[in-house]
Amino acid sequence: MNITITGARVLTPEGFQDNLALHIKDGVIAALSPALPDDPGQVVDAAGLLCVPGFIDLHVHGGGGHDFSDATVEAFVGAAQAHMLRGTTTLLPTTVCNPPEELERIFAALTATRATQHALPYMPGLHIEGPWINPKQAGAQDPRYILVPTEESTQALLKHGKDVARVTAAPELPGALGLGDTLSAQGVLMSIGHSDADYGQVQEAVRHGYKLVTHLYSGMSTLHRVRAMRVLGVVESAYLMDELDVEIIADGLHLPPELLQLIVRCKPWDKICLVTDSTRGMGLPDGSEIILGSLTAGQKAIVENGVAYMPDFTCFAGSVASSVRCVKTMVEKAHVPLEDAIRMMTLHPSRVLGMESRKGTLAVGMDADITCLTPAWNVRHVFAMGRHAVRDGQITG
Ligand SMILES: [Zn+2]
Repeated sequence: MNITITGARVLTPEGFQDNLALHIKDGVIAALSPALPDDPGQVVDAAGLLCVPGFIDLHVHGGGGHDFSDATVEAFVGAAQAHMLRGTTTLLPTTVCNPPEELERIFAALTATRATQHALPYMPGLHIEGPWINPKQAGAQDPRYILVPTEESTQALLKHGKDVARVTAAPELPGALGLGDTLSAQGVLMSIGHSDADYGQVQEAVRHGYKLVTHLYSGMSTLHRVRAMRVLGVVESAYLMDELDVEIIADGLHLPPELLQLIVRCKPWDKICLVTDSTRGMGLPDGSEIILGSLTAGQKAIVENGVAYMPDFTCFAGSVASSVRCVKTMVEKAHVPLEDAIRMMTLHPSRVLGMESRKGTLAVGMDADITCLTPAWNVRHVFAMGRHAVRDGQITG
């Protein structure tokens, strides 16, 4: 189906441009020019809206009351569409440390979801966050299911092929460097997270295929002393090493505004990706009670003031951010120009995933993954692979 979006301010690789008609044909951007094409198809008037690449979220556990760990088609569709309503067109459903049979059910739910006709964000594969993490940096992860990587468990994961898009692991664990070699050779994005590594161990990890740092500052070592000597943790290593990209939970709460400002001073901007790391509480009203992780084994939390808390309100229990809120936070609280904040949620994660030739920018020949939003950050339209998936703020199918 042909669609032409008219009247919007379009974010092109050269910056925002007015008066461009964006023509979609066969799921890709077929033309981007001031003139309407001869055969415009359905015309969507986007006057007054910003038209930007669809957001790419590398780290999502759930949303809209659903967690991907629920391992049903209903949960996958519900969570994915809750994020799509807020501008996301590509996401990695993210697991937590769980029993192997639960992981198998999640893979099966991904496959079954792809077979449905629903309008959904692109889900290239799962992000496996655990079980190969350091118990000292487990955070909210269930310590019962933490493991050390073995050849057997690596091969068990690899039998899912391309459905494994990313693995977060602690490279200092025995066997974790071999894990990096094996999985990165298969195209899996290897990410350092829930890790107590020092600078030497992070350097070694990079030599073994690790490319990204999972939620910078959360669940990782920082500068510390070993006897008289100061030793860099994962945080400082991530700043120092240009080989490493970082992802940050940009809800403005997990990392306070001053820390977001520090991060954009210390790390090259094209090495920063925004993620929501959101739980099933994303999109639910304040006061909602949610279960973190799977319904059977998870723990209770409460949504309040834009984040999830443990029931006694002593600490955060996960994010409820949307992609558009992360971009807004970087603009309003970290003072990053709008174009750059958007690139942190589009172009940079697409490059990290190796998809920059298809996704992450609006240009002729790219996938038609497009988000149209008001200057007040309300998402009005989303096009996912050329399909008009969100119209006037409503899911179409
Ligand atoms: Zn996570």
